[in-house]
Amino acid sequence: MFRDPTLSPPTSSKRLFVIGLTCLILLAGCGRALPELDDSDLGGRAGTILLFDGSSGRLVRSVGLSLAREREFQAGEFIRYVTLPVAIEKRITNPDGSFVCRDGTPEPTTEHGTITLRQALELPCRSVFREIQRKIPWSEMIGHLGSFGFGSPTELGGPLEKPGTIPDRLSGEQAWELWSCVDLRVTPLQMGAYFARLHRGDLPLRPETLQTVGDLTRGESAGEYRDHGFAYAWAASYLEGPSGPLTAFFFLLGHEDDTGREIATQLLRTWAGRSGCSLHQGDNGTHAES
Ligand SMILES: [Zn+2]
Repeated sequence: MFRDPTLSPPTSSKRLFVIGLTCLILLAGCGRALPELDDSDLGGRAGTILLFDGSSGRLVRSVGLSLAREREFQAGEFIRYVTLPVAIEKRITNPDGSFVCRDGTPEPTTEHGTITLRQALELPCRSVFREIQRKIPWSEMIGHLGSFGFGSPTELGGPLEKPGTIPDRLSGEQAWELWSCVDLRVTPLQMGAYFARLHRGDLPLRPETLQTVGDLTRGESAGEYRDHGFAYAWAASYLEGPSGPLTAFFFLLGHEDDTGREIATQLLRTWAGRSGCSLHQGDNGTHAES
């Protein structure tokens, strides 16, 4: 090690001071340790787990990062979490209103009846989100998707990160339809990073929109995509961790028989309990006007 010869050697009191300071820094570091995370938290499944710092949005821990940043998937029903803030921002949807599910057979029997927006989001109700989406032209959604971080790398995953795809046009008559939104392609890293932005209110939207959307999404969110046996499922949650708030994102890849949103949610809960993180408590759907 290089030492400036003009400097006198440290005295013993200086040495003690340095040792003491080092111990303090180490102790502080231990106190603020991040929750542990490893492959076993996926329950033997293929997938990825991403942990984001709740304040900065930095990716602080991961399992399976190569899958998260290098594989692009059809967005499917995940898009309801993108539609939600756009609809509230544009005042297309009243977050305190009631919504009627029009799915179900035979008509006019409905599957979910009259529900709140939170219920429509969490069930999820295709009918309610289909109605909301129809009021937002795809040409407008493109701009929102771009400003929310889709269609370009998040820059959290290094140089190998894929950008995903926001198509200029959607193919097929029912293309702009929640459950068949297959042309929009996203990486798990983009999905997780988007939840981290939703949770900490870091999207280019009005403060009231961010508050409402934060209230609606900081609890447990989950979804799945199924196509001819192939399936993926994900769960996201805002957590109070030992070192402060975190966004956790679990993504499972497999066969539709053993990959579902319930499994992803359960794995997230199990990991959170083991690692001393508490789940964010919902606000029962009330939205403070401030
Ligand atoms: Zn429904």
